[in-house]
Amino acid sequence: MKPAPFTYVRPKSLPEALGCLDDDGDAKLLAGGQSLVPLLNMRLVRPTTLVDINGLPGLDAIRPGPEGGLVIGALVRHTDLLASPLVRERAPLLAAAAAHVGHRAIRNRGTVGGSIAHADPAAELPAAAVALDATLTVVGPAGRRTIPARDFFVGPLVTALEPREILTEVEIPGSVERGWGFAEMARRAGDFAIAGVAGVVTPAAPGRGRSSTARLVAFGAGDTPLRLPGAAALLAGQPIDRALARAAGEAAARECAPRDDVHATADYRRHLVGVLTEQVVLDCAARLGS
Ligand SMILES: Cc1cc2nc3c(=O)[nH]c(=O)nc-3n(C[C@H](O)[C@H](O)[C@H](O)COP(=O)(O)OP(=O)(O)OC[C@H]3O[C@@H](n4cnc5c(N)ncnc54)[C@H](O)[C@@H]3O)c2cc1C
Repeated sequence: MKPAPFTYVRPKSLPEALGCLDDDGDAKLLAGGQSLVPLLNMRLVRPTTLVDINGLPGLDAIRPGPEGGLVIGALVRHTDLLASPLVRERAPLLAAAAAHVGHRAIRNRGTVGGSIAHADPAAELPAAAVALDATLTVVGPAGRRTIPARDFFVGPLVTALEPREILTEVEIPGSVERGWGFAEMARRAGDFAIAGVAGVVTPAAPGRGRSSTARLVAFGAGDTPLRLPGAAALLAGQPIDRALARAAGEAAARECAPRDDVHATADYRRHLVGVLTEQVVLDCAARLGS
């Protein structure tokens, strides 16, 4: 199918892009187009103007953030996350998550900002952003503001972005040492996950396997990336072994909120969250050297 008619504009600066959004209340931003274009073609969305943000300068870079962190521009492609030595060094969880996004052609076009702003509950990068405690910078008519990733995802395809706001950057805080894990189950490579889990464990001190904080986030298992605080709390301050990882998996299965759909039943998703959490916790511990 073809999209409904729209006006296409390609602003050259952020203020110009904000002006375009101001000019037409029914405008939509176009980044990689990997989610938006199918929706346009199926006429599930009918914006009167498409504001192509690919010409905005400075949004396609990955740069070091403070204290070992990372700042990622909204127009960085999934492929760039995979190719970046800085991402692999400072936030390897992000690269692992990006490797699961669709197929190569999709990763070449799809952007970090587009994936996060689109907020598909089964998408990998939103969950990774929450697990890494990322902060999102957005710019709009009222200026610039930052939103913790954990507060950004409000519902399926619904975020804390106000109308006419543009997501510009994702900041990942630094950490001296961090164990991480990422696992998902999909029917075929390249499909959206039926369910997945991203996790980060940070040790209290240079002690092996002793965690001070843990963040575990499920995706495809609720309306948004779903934090699993009960499972994470079990790990705090404890040496991680198989029994503890299993207990965390059981807690995670209890606290997720999946739905039935054509791809899987809620029960199967709940089971997957348990198994994947156990695996992710063990991977976190292995990367911490315990
Ligand atoms: C066959 C196929 C398989 C896929 N598989 C997966 C998968 O396994 N996992 C996965 O996570 N994704 C998957 N995707 C989607 C893909 O990852 C997209 O890259 C991503 O969801 C959207 O990014 P985009 O840059 O293409 O955004 P677009 O499609 O351009 O935009 C998506 C939405 O975000 C808004 N938007 C874009 N950028 C911004 C911004 N900077 N600020 C504010 N709003 C913005 C747009 O207005 C639009 O509403 C798949 C897509 C296809 C076609």
